Amino acid sequence: MKALVFNGPRKIRYESFDDPTIRDERNLIIKVKRCSICGSDLHMYHGDRIAKTDYSQPIERFCTGHETIGEVVEVGSAVRRHKVGDKVLVAGGAGCGICRRCLAGQFNLCESYRSGGHSSIAYGIRPVLNGGHAEYLEVINADLGATGIPEGITDQQALLLTDALATGYYGVKMSGVSPGDTVAVIGQGPVGRLAAEAAVAIGASTVYAIDPQENRRNMASAFGATPLHPDEAVQTVYEETRGLGVDSVIEAVGVGPTLSQAVKLARIGGRLSILGILQADTNMPLHIIQAKSLVVHMGIAGVVDSWPELIPLLQTGRIRGEGVFTHSFDLAEGEEAYRMFDAREDGVMKVLLTP
Ligand SMILES: [Zn+2]
Ligand SMILES: [Zn+2]
Repeated sequence: MKALVFNGPRKIRYESFDDPTIRDERNLIIKVKRCSICGSDLHMYHGDRIAKTDYSQPIERFCTGHETIGEVVEVGSAVRRHKVGDKVLVAGGAGCGICRRCLAGQFNLCESYRSGGHSSIAYGIRPVLNGGHAEYLEVINADLGATGIPEGITDQQALLLTDALATGYYGVKMSGVSPGDTVAVIGQGPVGRLAAEAAVAIGASTVYAIDPQENRRNMASAFGATPLHPDEAVQTVYEETRGLGVDSVIEAVGVGPTLSQAVKLARIGGRLSILGILQADTNMPLHIIQAKSLVVHMGIAGVVDSWPELIPLLQTGRIRGEGVFTHSFDLAEGEEAYRMFDAREDGVMKVLLTP
């Protein structure tokens, strides 16, 4: 088959790769219908790190991509929920599939790691689990990690359920947003933008959507958030909250200045959820977090556990995710897609790829 293959920093190329095979009876193969590039894929592209993997070092080639939908073309003998011909969306990560956390849809908390089994891992970030920027993808533990694309969900929304919307929503949940709360979301890339839309949908009173780019701020007004430029964010939020700050902050960038701003924006006793993938040396102001008695959560979304809540919100139009995909390419043009996405050309927000 053809796929986008990681050959080192800035060398993600469209080239031939071995067809996937079913390695376990619980797995299945899909013919990929659409896939997308995630901001976190750029960490590989740049030769940064994701967890313990350093992409500047030599690594066996693998297919990238953890946001994939497709049609089932082959099923393992133990797969019960899917059959050939079904259209499915695939969670961006997977776990052992048998521990209590995996069975609850929380692959991010898979407990097999310590016993030396198959730990929680995303598709398309290491050779052990190839990704979906490809013509075909092996889906592991398919009964848990994939679901049929429900009625009333568009292909683009289905792709957002594989990661970006699930992650944004995870930030909303982990920062404890309740009806009536004030919320600030720092960064209006796809994850931050979807977090802001989800916070509005579940009843936050005011949701500040903070981003330096005007087109991203404009998008926020369309779903009921209050757009703010980062330079005016702290002053405006303090003015509008009687100097208190907001109940919940969701940080969706992951660099020093935005993390510091997140701490400033939170009220005393407030909650902060960090979704941005952190690189080393972010200089979190821990002394201020302590002085303000903030509750801080960082982590990776379970994805699957969000589907029972997000799918009805999408089906009823409470969350739409409109305008997140700004550009579309054939998979064969993937090298150029990565380049322009990385260069942030033409107001790009998220890129859709079609094999
Ligand atoms: Zn992603
Ligand atoms: Zn597990």
